[in-house]
Amino acid sequence: MSTATSFVYLDYAATTPVDREVAATLAALLTEDADFANPSAPHIAGRRAGVHVRRAASRLAALVGCRPDRLVWTSGATESNNLAIVGAARYRSNRGRHLVTMPTEHKAVTDVFRALERQGFDVTWIEPGTDGVLDPADFEAALREDTQLASIMHVNNETGVIQDIDAIGDICRSRDILFHVDAAQSLGKLPIDLDTQPVDLLSASAHKIYGPAGIGLLYIADRPGCHVEALLYGGAQQRGIRPGTLPVHLIAGFGKAAEIAAARMDDDYGHLQRLRDTLWAGIREVAGLYRNGSAVRSFPGILNVSVDDIEGESLLLALEPLCVATGSACNSKDREPSYVLRALGLSDAAAQSAIRFSFGRMTRMADVELAAERYGDAVARLRQIAPVRAA
Ligand SMILES: *Cc1c(COP(=O)(O)O)cnc(C)c1O
Repeated sequence: MSTATSFVYLDYAATTPVDREVAATLAALLTEDADFANPSAPHIAGRRAGVHVRRAASRLAALVGCRPDRLVWTSGATESNNLAIVGAARYRSNRGRHLVTMPTEHKAVTDVFRALERQGFDVTWIEPGTDGVLDPADFEAALREDTQLASIMHVNNETGVIQDIDAIGDICRSRDILFHVDAAQSLGKLPIDLDTQPVDLLSASAHKIYGPAGIGLLYIADRPGCHVEALLYGGAQQRGIRPGTLPVHLIAGFGKAAEIAAARMDDDYGHLQRLRDTLWAGIREVAGLYRNGSAVRSFPGILNVSVDDIEGESLLLALEPLCVATGSACNSKDREPSYVLRALGLSDAAAQSAIRFSFGRMTRMADVELAAERYGDAVARLRQIAPVRAA
């Protein structure tokens, strides 16, 4: 972070700042002198706006290796997950009502499945190992004759654990089960090639890749039996699958962010690895510290650690001006221990002491060096002030 800011932002898994080039792209599409028109309109202004939408679709399609016409614009990954899961479950409900997912998914998946359970669908929640990784054999064992849909995320937003979506997708393909992947944390950061990978539905969001909040996408594979019922009614836009006037500026911003991500993917990844390794080297000696989630199958943009005998809320305060998350940004308001970490077998106390550091393109080495120093100091200070002893 620049010295002009009064905080050090290490919460990129929650959201990222908008890239300046992306912000310029977005701003240039709003006013009277710009291509602001409704792209559904057949007149010249509408057609000009449509060019920006098609260019963005090509960029996103190139990033994930699919045809541009397989992408549906949504308001973000939350909506994409809802559309994919509810839409596919309803579309296939005459064939069967059994669905499969994991307890470690984002709330925008788990809450959707809970709602479907209340509507009479039967959901199997497959537990990961204590490292957060799903064993494909456990996945296969949970499947039934009437299973219609499985939803397994690519990169976990709390731990950074990467699931083997190829192995899981292959199992789904062999049994004609639709496979949905929440890729909000991996789009533009890990290679995705839908032309060759066995994924039927994929959700992503712009604001996790230096694009604007409020725009996301759902990929729908062009395969027999792969379709989603619309959740919204209101027009013929996007073949009726997701009606509503397209936000041309947000879509163009998403497209620009995708183009930059594709060009920078390797550099970004290397940068994240150096940041994560530096931070880990700087804190690993703290007494009673341990890392949450697999250290092997892990995305380097996220490091989640717990520490014995420390309470997470006090730690968060003691860490200021670092902006980090306890467990998950979505869980920080209520004081419930992270359900994701609980599913990895952590005790309530261990889950409550968890801190998620997440970094991005704009994070500097000095930021993680400061974070390591502050973390060690904060733990030492809290242990002195309020020693919590195990009974
Ligand atoms: C951020 C995130 C979401 C929600 O995305 P929005 O675009 O904010 O709705 C869903 N799933 C995962 C894994 C995420 O990280």
